[in-house]
Amino acid sequence: MTNNQVLLINSNLIKPPVAPLGLDYVGSIIIRNGFNVELLDLNFSENIEYDIRKKLTNNSFLAIGLNIRNTDDCYYLSQDFFLPKIRDIVAVIRKYSDSPIILGGGGFSVVPLEIIKYLKADYGIIGDGEITFLRLLDSIRNSKKNSDISENIKGVVFKVSDYKIMEPGYYSLKEYPLPDRDLADNKRYFIEGGMGAIETKRGCYRKCIYCADPLIKGSNIRVRPINTVTKEIKNLIDKGINYIHFCDSEFNLPIDYSTNLLNQIIDTNIGDKIKWYSYMSPVPFNENFAKLLKHAGCEGINFGVDSANPKILKNLGRNHTLDDLANVAKLCSKYKIKFMFDLLLGGPGEYKDSIKYTIDNIKKLNPTCVGISYGIRVYPGTYLASIINREFFPNNKNLYGNVKDNTNFFKPIFYISEEIGKDIVEYTNSLVSGDKRFFIGATDNSDKNYNYNENLRLQEAIKNGYRGAFWDILQQINF
Ligand code: SF4
Repeated sequence: MTNNQVLLINSNLIKPPVAPLGLDYVGSIIIRNGFNVELLDLNFSENIEYDIRKKLTNNSFLAIGLNIRNTDDCYYLSQDFFLPKIRDIVAVIRKYSDSPIILGGGGFSVVPLEIIKYLKADYGIIGDGEITFLRLLDSIRNSKKNSDISENIKGVVFKVSDYKIMEPGYYSLKEYPLPDRDLADNKRYFIEGGMGAIETKRGCYRKCIYCADPLIKGSNIRVRPINTVTKEIKNLIDKGINYIHFCDSEFNLPIDYSTNLLNQIIDTNIGDKIKWYSYMSPVPFNENFAKLLKHAGCEGINFGVDSANPKILKNLGRNHTLDDLANVAKLCSKYKIKFMFDLLLGGPGEYKDSIKYTIDNIKKLNPTCVGISYGIRVYPGTYLASIINREFFPNNKNLYGNVKDNTNFFKPIFYISEEIGKDIVEYTNSLVSGDKRFFIGATDNSDKNYNYNENLRLQEAIKNGYRGAFWDILQQINF
């Protein structure tokens, strides 16, 4: 008898929990193509070995898919590297099952070869998961040899004598059917994580020097049909989820599509039933767009601002200016949309005065809150990584974190401009000077902790009924 059983495992253990959107989307398509799919969600597990053993004993799976959403928490002050824990999970799976293990997820796509070797998995998937996973399952079911797989499937990582990696597949999202969103327990994620999640597009065409999103999702933006997006939102509302996060890299790119989507959300009265949040670029952003956002139920926006200093913005490959930030601040205030400015300090060319310029000017724009990242996590394949390699990695004075035996940037490693160095934390915090709107750095559970990972105050607040984006909840409990 053909084995159609597929197990997906969520290895993302971050609390508060974030719904495994990718697994939900991939699982939905596989189910429609005749596979029986189960999800083992380790985020809700109290005993990981027990739950894996229970699932795998007496069950035979054609394949086991394991997602890797992030390799680490991207936070200079904590540098929590997740992969050792995931390696333990893989070891337990191996103990109870011979089924091939397939890795995927955004974190995997960034450093695929290093991760698959580290975890000793059988296959991996980079780029879009849906079609590649389906084709790989078919190949495994038909007992095809790995050398045949290599010729036929985009985005697959596999082993012949050594691991090989195929070009990622980025497909038109118009081909994907409406996902059921029934695989993950989205209601529980809402209750314990404060929000539901959805995406309207994948990819980004911009070239910010540090950003791995175009490597993960492609360097062209591919949008979903607007009707499919609004039906999926209605589905989440029917499940009792009324706070939603749009997980697009930048919701307002391209703005024509986003404007059409907002109009549809307004016309179908969905905007009256939900409050939602998203990431956006400071440009493009205009009065008509802000007005539509408000009518469509937008509660808050996290703007990737990075800096206010023109030279630093140019070095980072950003295309906005301080005037653009002033425009965003004015319009969000006018339409009563909460807005966070996320700063990324310490990049190429950063020095004390440029940080002071940024902090002073951001204070004047009166955002709802400000997130600060000290240093920039370096990812392979980015322009920032290429600059570092040119500057002779071993002696590079701009690198902090795992600088030894880490030339592939696999473990957490951060760029902090030599001119400011590790004084960045103390110096920046002195400039913030107790301004409550700023989430400054801390690794403990004080009210200064802006790291969402294992943030007990945040978990407690959600348990007590707070809903929405983590930054919005934090700023509410900080005041
Ligand atoms: S930071 Fe935003 S705008 Fe820049 S490349 Fe990444 S997703 Fe695109």
